[in-house]
Amino acid sequence: MNNLLPSIKRALIRVLPSKLLTIILALACVCVSQVAFSALPAIKQSGQYWVDASGNRVNLRGTNLGNWLIMEYWMMNQSMTYSGGNVNDQCTLEATLASRFGNTEKERLMKVYRSSWITSRDFDLIKGMGMNVVRIPFLYSLIENEYAPYNLRADAWQYLDWAVAQAASRNMYVILDLHGAVGGQAASDQQHDGCVGAAQMWTNGTYWDRTKWLWDMIAQHYNGNTTIAAYDMLNEPWGTDATTLANYSYELFNVIRAKDANHVILLPGHNSGIDAYGNPNSRGLTNSSFWMHFYPGLWGWNDTATVGAGQANMYADWLHCATATDACAWRDKINGLQTPFLIGEFQPWTLLGSYGGQMTRKAYDMFNYQYGWAATNWAYKTVTNSGSSGNTNSWGWGMVTNSSSGGTFSNINVSTATSAQIEAYFYRFATQTLVRNESIAYWMNWTPTVGNQIEAEMFKTHSGVRMEITSDAGGGFNASYIDANDWMSYPINIATAGSYKLEVRVASPNTGGQLVLSKNATDVGVITVPNTGGWQAWTTVSITVTLAAGQQDLALFARTGGYNINWWKVTKL
Ligand code: MG
Repeated sequence: MNNLLPSIKRALIRVLPSKLLTIILALACVCVSQVAFSALPAIKQSGQYWVDASGNRVNLRGTNLGNWLIMEYWMMNQSMTYSGGNVNDQCTLEATLASRFGNTEKERLMKVYRSSWITSRDFDLIKGMGMNVVRIPFLYSLIENEYAPYNLRADAWQYLDWAVAQAASRNMYVILDLHGAVGGQAASDQQHDGCVGAAQMWTNGTYWDRTKWLWDMIAQHYNGNTTIAAYDMLNEPWGTDATTLANYSYELFNVIRAKDANHVILLPGHNSGIDAYGNPNSRGLTNSSFWMHFYPGLWGWNDTATVGAGQANMYADWLHCATATDACAWRDKINGLQTPFLIGEFQPWTLLGSYGGQMTRKAYDMFNYQYGWAATNWAYKTVTNSGSSGNTNSWGWGMVTNSSSGGTFSNINVSTATSAQIEAYFYRFATQTLVRNESIAYWMNWTPTVGNQIEAEMFKTHSGVRMEITSDAGGGFNASYIDANDWMSYPINIATAGSYKLEVRVASPNTGGQLVLSKNATDVGVITVPNTGGWQAWTTVSITVTLAAGQQDLALFARTGGYNINWWKVTKL
């Protein structure tokens, strides 16, 4: 290898400065892609659950690398324009670049973009925010040579292999998501499949055949790679009816399965639901799962609630099933099918103001532990021209955004800018200062600990309880709707056995409430909850309890109900 270095160096010196970045980025990708795949256990289906080879449930919580391998221009502040107005889909951008500079230069610029929007620092940020899986949306032409259909691009696997290696080296899984099929599969007014306009994949036999070919190639390439948690065959394929979608999806499933015997394959949800599929298990399919995208609070779904507290209570009610059509309807459907479930997209913070960080963690806990679902939020990163000061109470759609200090950028018109200016605009995304939502980061890494307030509503699993905004000191939420025999469970490590002071923050308009701290259904201590004068009139009651050492689940059990709980706390005596 050493004797190659001088010639590479000479080559670098010879090239024009504008080409230098591309070469450096390409070399970096080559180096990183040599990172060995980790030994993450393979994921498979066991009834309704995602499990590892030993049958242990795997709680997948992650994010989407949106706007990377298929672009959505709202995620970059509509900062790209062309002679026809806003650039609204990747087809428009690529056609504009190709007509001005030719295909070769267009391809080079697109590679600069792909090497810039996501870099290794992004995987560090994702890991640091408590994630263990990334869903990677991509356009078909990332892999298939669009100029020579049914042929792989020379760099077909460069970006996906790099991302898989980046995830694997951090013990994170990957879900591969065909976000834009050739011809398009999404509803006609949507940009997110690459081209605004009619979804031609459903009616053009060649496009459909090429889509099957593409998944055949992907299945062969990633067969046996245990970093891949699942194949997401088609994103939001709502340019057709539910029955057609089910028929096409089963056909595509079999194409993949013929080349890859093991990976979980996701059957796409229609915007009307999944009923047209029947039960995949009864068709003899193995390692199949469904997905849906849940966006309460947006696009007409409960979106009349006020931003901030109103949205927070709405989201909490939906998670905890205030009505029969909330999350529990899907729990019952999925439990009945005995098929795993991925919430492939959801957005639990942007309309929730100061409550967004905590609700994000709550949503993952409910999805993972209460319902057994995998979940990937939309999305990892969005940016704005002026960036963010870091105020987590008004936050956009990305867990991460650009900083107002060192992260700003200007608009660009790709019909008039030079190639070098477009390259610089793309490269800015690799170097701009980023800022993460610290509230999301705090809550995603939060864990119940001795000596600190344990938020009652942050139970891992529960029966019969809900959460609501509290007016107690410190704000946030309290656990509510507590009836007799309801319970909430919390994992906690008790380092030292012995006597502890147990404090519980309660409010009740009733007398005679009985609340039990319990372990394995055995009483550890019993607290009498007094009448405090109202549901939001708070007081702290305390008793002494004896705790055993070790990692354990402690539960709050309502022997009688009729009170709210904001937090509890154990302190070594
Ligand atoms: Mg609380």
